[in-house]
Amino acid sequence: MKRIYMDYAATTPTHPDVVKAMKPYFADMFGNPSSIHSFGRESKEAIEQARDKVANLVGARNEEIVFTSGGTESDNFAIKGVADANKKKGSHIITSAIEHHAVIEPCKFLETQGFKVTYLPVDEYGMVNPGDVKKAITDKTILISIMHANNEIGTIEPIEEIGKIASEKGIYFHTDAVQTAGHIPINLKELPVDLLSMSAHKLYGPKGVGALYIRKGVQIVSFMHGGDQEHRRRASTENVPGIVGFGKAAEIAKSEVEEERKRLTVLRDKLIKNILQIENTRLNGHPSLRLPNNVNVSVEFIEGESMLLNLDLMGIAGSTGSACTSSALEPSHVLLALGLSPEVAHASLRLTLGSETTAGDVDYVLEVLPGIVKKLRLMSPLYKKK
Ligand code: PLP
Repeated sequence: MKRIYMDYAATTPTHPDVVKAMKPYFADMFGNPSSIHSFGRESKEAIEQARDKVANLVGARNEEIVFTSGGTESDNFAIKGVADANKKKGSHIITSAIEHHAVIEPCKFLETQGFKVTYLPVDEYGMVNPGDVKKAITDKTILISIMHANNEIGTIEPIEEIGKIASEKGIYFHTDAVQTAGHIPINLKELPVDLLSMSAHKLYGPKGVGALYIRKGVQIVSFMHGGDQEHRRRASTENVPGIVGFGKAAEIAKSEVEEERKRLTVLRDKLIKNILQIENTRLNGHPSLRLPNNVNVSVEFIEGESMLLNLDLMGIAGSTGSACTSSALEPSHVLLALGLSPEVAHASLRLTLGSETTAGDVDYVLEVLPGIVKKLRLMSPLYKKK
């Protein structure tokens, strides 16, 4: 059976050129980058070349990129590291109700350590209001963390405006760009952002490697203590093949980002337009300010999980939300924050597109989905009561 992958927000396949670039660093060029002999030097050189490529993807300087084990570590590093380094200045953090757990959980942890966190609400499209950010600032605020785009609903947040507000007040601004780096252009030469998280596996790189951009001068404490790697910001022997792969993926993404964005937007819009033809469906997230590859709809009176299983039987891989929480039965905190009832939140389906998605795949989904919805609604007690 034909298999169609539409869960690119969960992870992407590693690009064949990325695999090729990584391969020599497993066995032939295995040196420890901290060693001073030639084996070590060639690994070190590979890391620095990768750092240049990742920096170039987002318009940063090479020395402002610290490699990590992924998006989660980058978020934790940014939030806990800035909080710890600046606790004498203040103990208040502003974030939003729809952040990824990799931001929400470190914030919750900091609340147990005496910090105060404001979780800003969002509007019906999942948009944070910069005016609310401004109002929430106190003389104790040391950090604002608002994601660049939401992983579930695809809404792109007004980070430029929020960053300006933060910078005018002398408050650090962190953004989780795990879903945007490599998918929409980012230029940190112009964007007022102090810290930015990325993850390689969301942009056709390998899993288990990410980066945190730390603007020069930001006061931050490391939480991995040990050796002097990454300019003493992140101890532990570097994941050389992973970092090399991330570099290659960043280089490819930089050259393809514009074209791919246009191509995917057309496919996304076709999917959305046609799915919304099915009665009692609604689009979750912003209609236009959304990731080029994100479709998130609620198909009322049906459980998202049943839709997923039925789509899977037809070879289509989608999701109901974030992969990290898809085993939880709780409705998504993101969809609830939009004001959806738990029932409508449970009825969500997320299809995220990527490099292998073709117009034929979109047609196939549109051919199969209405039948699945019809079948499940006939079985749904909620639908019968309607
Ligand atoms: N932040 C966002 C917005 C994400 O979508 C994800 C992954 O789903 C993460 C952080 C965590 O990234 P990683 O899987 O690399 O730890």
